[in-house]
Amino acid sequence: RRKWRTVVEILKELEDDCDTPVARLRQVVDAMAVEMHAGLASEGGSKLKMLLTFVHVLPTGREKGTYYALHLGGTYFRILRVHLGAQRSYLDVQDVERHPIPSHLMNSTSEVLFNFLAFSLERFIEKEENGSISQGVKRELAFTFSFPVKHTSISSGVLIKWTKGFEISEMVGKDIAECLQGALDRRGLNMHVAALVNDTVGALSLGYYHDPDTVVAVVFGTGSNACYLERTDAIIKCQGLLTTSGSMVVNMEWGNFWSSHLPRTSYDIDLDAESSNSNDMGFEKMISGMYLGDIVRRVILRMSQESDVFGPTTSVLSDPYVLSTNSVSAMHEDDTPELQEVARVLKDLGVSDVPLKVRKLVVKICDVVTRRAGRLAAAGIAGILKKIGRDGSGGITSGRSRSEIQMQKRTVVAVEGGLYMNYVMFREYMEEALVEILGEEVSQYVVVKAMEDGSSIGSALLVASLQS
Ligand code: ADP
Repeated sequence: RRKWRTVVEILKELEDDCDTPVARLRQVVDAMAVEMHAGLASEGGSKLKMLLTFVHVLPTGREKGTYYALHLGGTYFRILRVHLGAQRSYLDVQDVERHPIPSHLMNSTSEVLFNFLAFSLERFIEKEENGSISQGVKRELAFTFSFPVKHTSISSGVLIKWTKGFEISEMVGKDIAECLQGALDRRGLNMHVAALVNDTVGALSLGYYHDPDTVVAVVFGTGSNACYLERTDAIIKCQGLLTTSGSMVVNMEWGNFWSSHLPRTSYDIDLDAESSNSNDMGFEKMISGMYLGDIVRRVILRMSQESDVFGPTTSVLSDPYVLSTNSVSAMHEDDTPELQEVARVLKDLGVSDVPLKVRKLVVKICDVVTRRAGRLAAAGIAGILKKIGRDGSGGITSGRSRSEIQMQKRTVVAVEGGLYMNYVMFREYMEEALVEILGEEVSQYVVVKAMEDGSSIGSALLVASLQS
């Protein structure tokens, strides 16, 4: 069998196929803006669903009281309580609990899932009250739900489809808030599901609470999604939509974005074909935490099959999702001279004693896959900015200089999610590419702000703003 040369060729092919020069990113930017228009023009007009959220006012900082949030993400669920004192600086986030979602729940039944969530909430409140729950108090709860929902109001909406490996088919079409409320009532918990909030909308709410220039929010966690504040008259598919503010937050469901300009490899094609939601969520599968590790795994697997640089092929390497994105970042950011972290991760995959140059090669694979992800993520953000005229490209009229009109307004993009928060290289590639796309001048007006736990905290703030 050929060895090193084969592996180098596979790497070269990967690099070529993942290439994202700025010209290509700009094509993705344009495609994103075009698809946004199409998704707003008609129902089913685009792979981007551009869902109404019925959120048209965002928290201002004047909210007060105690509110709860329960967040069902892709990997974790979180419960927290916020206490608000009618001034922006009086935001007290208390008792943040974060647990992995037990994997058996992901393909159980709606009853099992919601009973589990209600049980977890009950335990949370018991702890807060030192064991006994006083029934006299009615607690207002935000349900942050990181899956696509067709809303009929801010507090109700039906599940459109599952993503990120969840497969409880009887839940599709059911009202999610009602399911949770039912489970809480069955447990006798005096809690009211006051809003059903997409995680991106939660992040936007927290961003806006701290800084009213926040108009876009993006999540890079297990999955990926974005939302932004849109003028109601631009939401053509919903004529006559009136809100007091003249705008509404639109949940893009951008994970399902697709464009022929996206650099796709054979590994992406195979990953998609073998996933539980093939032909779906194409963008998410290139940029989010659930999938980056598996793309890297597929490259290593192919190398190990076509050469012997990884020693005898092991069976674990062919198990889908055995290599997590957490391990990818650990290898990528390994700064030990001997790449001991890489050696450790490979050993866990059943690949021992590979020479240093092979470990370096693995780091390179991580870099290529994550760089592509970060740069495409940036193109997605720039696409939103383009759609809302904040990318510096639009509106140049005669008589006014480009710089006079160009930036216009400071724009804050709230970003949240474990991938962005913890994987420094992903974050750096994303931010670097955003500057490349927008140019130095426009970039000065675009502020990317990290929102730790923004999805849940922001959702609680949103519920608070509904009460006041
Ligand atoms: P969820 O998506 O469940 O709401 P998070 O936003 O916290 O939860 O995202 C969790 C995901 O983020 C993990 O599944 C993983 O893919 C990614 N992630 C978290 N930490 C890291 C890390 N250190 N390196 C790379 N990816 C990470």
